[in-house]
Amino acid sequence: MAKILVVDDAEFLRVRITKMLTGNGHEVVEADNGAKAVAKYRENRPDAVLMDVTMPEMDGLAALKEIRSGDPNARVVMLTALGQESVVLEAIKSGARDFVVKPFEPDRVLAALKRALA
Ligand SMILES: [Mg+2]
Repeated sequence: MAKILVVDDAEFLRVRITKMLTGNGHEVVEADNGAKAVAKYRENRPDAVLMDVTMPEMDGLAALKEIRSGDPNARVVMLTALGQESVVLEAIKSGARDFVVKPFEPDRVLAALKRALA
């Protein structure tokens, strides 16, 4: 059981991911943009973060860098779209543990989280 911060500007996706995670015994905190993700990370100190890339206010890459500069051990898994290969590379260089390409199977997200938490 872990505390997971789910960050995505698409509400339906947050709902879907939250349902899946709570169904697997995890606690979830949500944010709908990168700036809120940084604030909620500081407030809640989650065990891992699922981070969308394209979001208003602050994108996922900037939020990843901000979170990692405050907590070099932060475990962040990026939620990416097809065609975002350069973003994925930059995210991995910036300390992201893994990435999952949308649309994704729930099992793929759970497996990436499990590896990030190990
Ligand atoms: Mg988005």
